[in-house]
Amino acid sequence: MRIQLTNTLSRSKEVFEPADAGRVTLYVCGPTVYNYAHIGNARPPVVFDTLFRLLRRTYGDSAVIYARNYTDIDDKIIAAAQAAGQPIEAITEKFRVIYEQDMGALGVLPPTLAPRATQHVDDMIALIEKLIEAGAAYAVPSGVYFAVAKDADYGKLSGRSQDELRAGARVEGEDDKQGPSDFALWKAAKPGEPAWDAPFGRGRPGWHIECSAMIESALGSPIDIHGGGLDLIFPHHENEIAQSESAHGRALARVWMHNGFLTMDKEKMSKSIGNIVTVNELLAQGWQGETIRWALLSAHYRAPLDWSDDLLKQAQASLDRLYQVLRDADYDRLDEDLHDEGESHYPVGSNQVDDIIKPFLSALSDDLNTPRALAELNELAKAVRDATGATAEDDPQGDVRSRLMLTTAALRSAASLLGILQSDPNDWFRRGMDTSKIDALVAQRVEARKAKDFAASDRIRDQLAAMGVEVMDSASGSTWRRK
Ligand code: AMP
Ligand code: ZN
Repeated sequence: MRIQLTNTLSRSKEVFEPADAGRVTLYVCGPTVYNYAHIGNARPPVVFDTLFRLLRRTYGDSAVIYARNYTDIDDKIIAAAQAAGQPIEAITEKFRVIYEQDMGALGVLPPTLAPRATQHVDDMIALIEKLIEAGAAYAVPSGVYFAVAKDADYGKLSGRSQDELRAGARVEGEDDKQGPSDFALWKAAKPGEPAWDAPFGRGRPGWHIECSAMIESALGSPIDIHGGGLDLIFPHHENEIAQSESAHGRALARVWMHNGFLTMDKEKMSKSIGNIVTVNELLAQGWQGETIRWALLSAHYRAPLDWSDDLLKQAQASLDRLYQVLRDADYDRLDEDLHDEGESHYPVGSNQVDDIIKPFLSALSDDLNTPRALAELNELAKAVRDATGATAEDDPQGDVRSRLMLTTAALRSAASLLGILQSDPNDWFRRGMDTSKIDALVAQRVEARKAKDFAASDRIRDQLAAMGVEVMDSASGSTWRRK
């Protein structure tokens, strides 16, 4: 199915054609690791993870190379390390690990490559040298700057004119730069700050040059897709383009994609405003990762998304409905049967699944229309529900059962592209329950039954029922589920 994506550069929705279908390249600007990611920061990784999943399905798992970097050197990191009285590496390592855990909880697949800025300083220095040689950059005492006035193309992504840019804000300590909108490629070393030796003086890289160097080193250019949040179009992505294209004389990326803002009470969620909710705290409050993910995907990625508790509650209710459908279909049993009897017995071929999930795929392929894709999941769930409940007697040919297997496989397959419905339905409904206590009571009850102490067994059953737990006894033992 052909994928269409909105390209910020052309300002239009285009059919996506990778330069090489055997090597599709995607780069997304990753986090600056100095504190907890808020739910707005989680929007780009979740959106582009969904794109990553779609690309993998379309071109093959090993054909898609996705790089998402870590910015582990930056003013804010230096300030955070100084405030905490800790070395920079202690801060960046701590928050990198937390970020990976948070993203893992949201079902974000690890990207193929996760370059860290500090591991690519040599590449940045080489790129800056190239820009100086080409006359696109110049060195002055406070650092090395990109000469915006010499770049006729500058502004093509954001649509800003050089005149508008001349009114750019002044940055403290950059008084010796030649043009007001020239930006730092390299900042001269300051006491107490980390610094690297370079031919143009000791110092540290500017933020924009990090991505240009990492893209070139990790993926080579032009890459197929470059993504990030809307706030990165200017100046970050504009500057990435200016640097890379001036140095290499070829495009940096063919398609530029930008997600809209996550807001709270219609205001952009941001650390500087202070209106933030972190992923970490939402998980600690007991919200499941899939619920948060559903909420993030409930709006089209280019549209704003207003975050609220109600949004999370709706997402949870939607997932509850779908998991209920899977639980009623007794997916575990189907899964085991499939495993035992082989696919030939119940023909759940991938072609048939593809056929059933076509409307879903066409929604997702239409510029990643996740709200429509989520609605299509409900249609797929309806088909599962219709096939649920037939018994062997009223289905002698096994047709209804085959249908149940096929529709269930289709629902799971479609949902996996969104990174949801990946849990066991029973586990899903066990959220917030004291499972170790319940397991212990179920085990005690098994012992009581063995000892033929039925009064005790019944008492424990009642106790479990009061906790919302239903016990199911079978020849092989006892299991439980939320009622
Ligand atoms: P920052 O920590 O501000 O550098 O942001 C890291 C990433 O999160 C960037 O891709 C930003 O575009 C993105 N981002 C930050 N705030 C929001 C928000 N409120 N909504 C959507 N994306 C955001
Ligand atoms: Zn970047």
